[in-house]
Amino acid sequence: MSGADWDEDDPFEEQREEIENPMKRLFLEYGSNYKGAAAVGVIASIFARVLDLLPALMLGVALDAVIRQEIPYVEAFPVGGGLVAPYVPEGRLAQFWLTIGIIAGAFFLSAIFHWTRNWGFNTFAQNVQHDIRTDTYDEMQRLDMGFFADKQTGEMMSILSNDVNRLEKFLNDGMNSLFRLLVMVLGIGGLLLAINWQLALVALLPVPLIAVFTYLFIQTIQPKYAQVRSTVGKVNSRLENNLGGIQVIKSSTTESYESDRVEDVSQQYFDANWGAIRTRIKFFPGLRVLAGIGFVITFLVGGLWVISGPPGPFSGTLSNGMFVVFILYTQRFIWPMAQFGQIINMYQRARASSARIFGLMDEPNRVGEEPDAPDLAVTEGRVEYDDVSFGYDADERILEDIDFTVDGGETLALVGPTGAGKSTVLKLLLRMYDVDEGEIRVDGQSVQDVTLRSLRESLGYVSQDTFLFYGSVEENIKYGTFDADREDVIEAAKMAEAHEFIQNLPDGYDTEVGERGVKLSGGQRQRVSIARAILKDPDILVLDEATSDVDTETEMLIQRSIDDLAEDRTTFAIAHRLSTIKDADQVLVLEGGEIVERGTHEELLANGGLYSHLWGVQAGEIDELPEEFIERAQRRQARTEVDAGDDD
Ligand code: ADP
Repeated sequence: MSGADWDEDDPFEEQREEIENPMKRLFLEYGSNYKGAAAVGVIASIFARVLDLLPALMLGVALDAVIRQEIPYVEAFPVGGGLVAPYVPEGRLAQFWLTIGIIAGAFFLSAIFHWTRNWGFNTFAQNVQHDIRTDTYDEMQRLDMGFFADKQTGEMMSILSNDVNRLEKFLNDGMNSLFRLLVMVLGIGGLLLAINWQLALVALLPVPLIAVFTYLFIQTIQPKYAQVRSTVGKVNSRLENNLGGIQVIKSSTTESYESDRVEDVSQQYFDANWGAIRTRIKFFPGLRVLAGIGFVITFLVGGLWVISGPPGPFSGTLSNGMFVVFILYTQRFIWPMAQFGQIINMYQRARASSARIFGLMDEPNRVGEEPDAPDLAVTEGRVEYDDVSFGYDADERILEDIDFTVDGGETLALVGPTGAGKSTVLKLLLRMYDVDEGEIRVDGQSVQDVTLRSLRESLGYVSQDTFLFYGSVEENIKYGTFDADREDVIEAAKMAEAHEFIQNLPDGYDTEVGERGVKLSGGQRQRVSIARAILKDPDILVLDEATSDVDTETEMLIQRSIDDLAEDRTTFAIAHRLSTIKDADQVLVLEGGEIVERGTHEELLANGGLYSHLWGVQAGEIDELPEEFIERAQRRQARTEVDAGDDD
């Protein structure tokens, strides 16, 4: 998804708005665990910066006391003369060596403090970042399925990566620059005021101007950067989309059309970026002008002062050495001040990012469990749906009064047209969502009263879209049953009719699959996931079109193993090919979220209703279907097309 959509389409907005002071929370909840490291960083930073100021000051002292010999050594110090007084030797050369020693010592110590400062700030930032990332991920994993609808996974990915990284940037670079700025402004400002407060006022004049200037610059460039990010998002989506659809592009010879579209988004990116560049390249020259004005005025006033005493309204003295210190120090203000706007900006971004992170963390989980919920105890495996109604959105019912019982060990088949709500019935059993009305019970225990973990451990779910994790085939089969050994895995694979093809893969069971590995066909993936369910050996088996993606021959083979598997355990099966569920103990026919027929295969055929017509279609008796059935099918199709259209 493109960056522009983040802010407009933010699923966590409500929670975010309730978070009053995200930065305070960040420091209290996460930062406080590493206060030691942060304190080391802050203290070392102050020492390092103060030491950095020393060499320039010593140059001024040396000028006045050693080179021109106008002022006694100790008195040449604007501050801190008392500290060195006991160590000052007699004699010009000895004092010169002392100066060199102090300067060398300052450089050496400052290097140590810089190292310590980096260690402290980085320890703090990295640990906080790590803790936040893992906590956010854990929270995210607990959210109910409603959050994982397509458009929100992009959003969550961006919170987990971009926002967490942005925090690190502030915690490290931002805080670092902030302390440097503070020490520079307070340290240099204090020193200059101590040397000559009147000239200090002149020299410090550009400082607030620079602060305002950089702040305004950041305010101007921010929206431009946002636009750059959003157009980058557009370019990426377009490229991704086109790479994925390259076969369609080629076969419909729309290359030039697509080239134009890519050029169009690339041009948008170019324009946005150019707009940002135009602003950015004005910043440093502008800063130079301001800094230059400060330099010239200080040089002018200070120089006149040294040559012919205090000019105009000024009074007091200014030595040659201190004039040099003034000139050197005012120069050192500029760069830390230039970062002033940047620091504010980093702070604001970090604040927005922590608000998004805490917004995700505070998201209440609609599918939760009581803290003292007992584990599900499956005895027979009897499942009851007691007048269950449900809708994904509050205003649209998907299931209406679903009521049935499956006895332990029985097989229940769900059939009906696409969109009838068959998968939804099963998702409610897995508690991917909670029912709006009614209750689902397993051996008399409501699924909402037991722990989610125990519930899902009792269920083996094979869905129509099988996802493989990045890893080996074996790891994928063992996923969730991690203690299984190779023999068990092979046994399960054999039962799922997967052993043959796995052996033919380049590295057999060790072949890497998933996004970066060998591509398996839909049917192969499905067999791996059936093997996964077989290995798990669950009390209740849930097959959501488990064999939809395999050819008829493989289906027959898998069906045999599924029959074995389902033999003595409660099984739910959704199947389009009705031949696969012929032997089910009970068949429910769903239409528009309601059970319209129920019975065994034979009973339903004899009924002559929807089921018998669906059966007729699959047996190739299309010409013999009643007109009314065809009309209903057309109406349903039209509805699903409208639904699908809405999704876009
Ligand atoms: P079936 O399995 O019978 O094809 P589903 O249970 O998948 O039917 O879907 C039933 C209805 O619920 C459909 O109209 C579908 O568009 C809608 N639906 C399915 N999943 C979601 C979802 N995550 N959010 C909103 N609506 C959904």
